[in-house]
Amino acid sequence: MADQTNPHQANFQTTTSPSAKDYPGLDEWRSLAADQQPTWAEHAEFGRVISELEAVPPLVFAGEVDQMRQRLAAVAEGKAFFLTGGDCAETFADATADKISGRVRTLLQMAVVLTYGASMPVVKMGRMAGQFSKPRSSNMETRGETTLPTFRGEMVNGFDFTESAREHDPERMLRGYHTSASTLNLIRAFTTGGFADLRLVHEWNKGFVSNPANARYESLAREIDRAIRFMDACGSDFDAIRGTEFYAGHEALLLDYERALTRIDSRTHLPYDTSGHFLWVGERTRGLEDAHVNFLSKVHNPVGVKLGPTTSVEDTLRLIDKLDPERTPGRLTFITRMGASKIRENLPPLVEAVRDSGAKVVWVTDPMHGNTISVPSGYKTRRFNDVVDEVRGFFEVHEDLGTIPGGIHVEMTGDDVAECLGGSDAVDESAFADRYETLCDPRLNHMQSLEVAFLVAEYLSKR
Ligand code: PEP
Ligand code: MN
Repeated sequence: MADQTNPHQANFQTTTSPSAKDYPGLDEWRSLAADQQPTWAEHAEFGRVISELEAVPPLVFAGEVDQMRQRLAAVAEGKAFFLTGGDCAETFADATADKISGRVRTLLQMAVVLTYGASMPVVKMGRMAGQFSKPRSSNMETRGETTLPTFRGEMVNGFDFTESAREHDPERMLRGYHTSASTLNLIRAFTTGGFADLRLVHEWNKGFVSNPANARYESLAREIDRAIRFMDACGSDFDAIRGTEFYAGHEALLLDYERALTRIDSRTHLPYDTSGHFLWVGERTRGLEDAHVNFLSKVHNPVGVKLGPTTSVEDTLRLIDKLDPERTPGRLTFITRMGASKIRENLPPLVEAVRDSGAKVVWVTDPMHGNTISVPSGYKTRRFNDVVDEVRGFFEVHEDLGTIPGGIHVEMTGDDVAECLGGSDAVDESAFADRYETLCDPRLNHMQSLEVAFLVAEYLSKR
């Protein structure tokens, strides 16, 4: 978030912006079908919580959001690469300095691998500081004789399988907001306060369990060191590597929350959803005439849509008309999550149609969500080889069509968890009992994340 044009300063008026209450169209979504929403509108505290959220300071500033859109415009042109990573579902308990730093360091390491391999800037975003709600395939969960509402992320209800934990509680939105604020505060401190200085490239590797990917990283870090010493000897000025821009994004699932954090920017007089820099709509809620797409069409943030294997060409083109009618570079990102066995067949028609339409979207691969399996022991997992194969398929498709593979979006953590199977320091099912921690989808651990980064860097360096 450090930049020559300090966005914090340029747009500080946003905090005192006029109310978004009467902005035309901003509430149109309320009359449309909205899937996956909590049943809390009748809750005694709902109105008070919403009023509080409407009054709190924004988490991000319009100037930063605009800057991110510009960075994504460079991605759409093939001049930068977009890296997103973080938990499937953040938890309040894991918003600790250690966990946040582990995630940020892993993302910085991945970004360095990519920047060095591809010789191009990397736009870095955490699925962090707001990723607290989840769409679910079923409303209810049954264990033995008991049936209760499913867990929908800690901004909605609790993970424990009890009646009181599973109740939809609007008060959790406030906790979600405050946890996002403290997470973002730490991210800002890490990325602009000296820790992300490229001269500390070795430090980011410290404290992680030693593994093959980490050793490979160390040798890359030595090359970077040498390059920096060389530049230093040449009298270079290192201002540009002292800090780094880092953005926060999440799925804009809970419309009550997203709407309450929407502010009109006093400079542009446009609405920004200030809960995060980048918001996306998930595979389950991307209906063209539905509430989520409608709401995101009204805010000025860069936005994304997840596209699964059944997405039609027509829907893809209509999503562009809805979300990016002006064809603003960097406004719209398609995050494809087809599955390794389908991407080579299902992605090309979409990419071709978008290319021929003249629209300039950012194409990102999410190699996680189309590759989820359940093993007999009951764990939800993903095979590292499938993840890697989907990434390969993504690059092959774009290579064939002459289009731009813009980025990668992964579920990952800085911890040495055992949730995805395989990798060069292979995780197998026997490790699940001790090191499977996620409350939702399985994540790449630190080593698997670095391995994916090395793979992507190889593809980018060939481009
Ligand atoms: C997710 O990103 O965690 C998710 C639920 O993805 P999708 O909408 O692609 O299924
Ligand atoms: Mn997920």
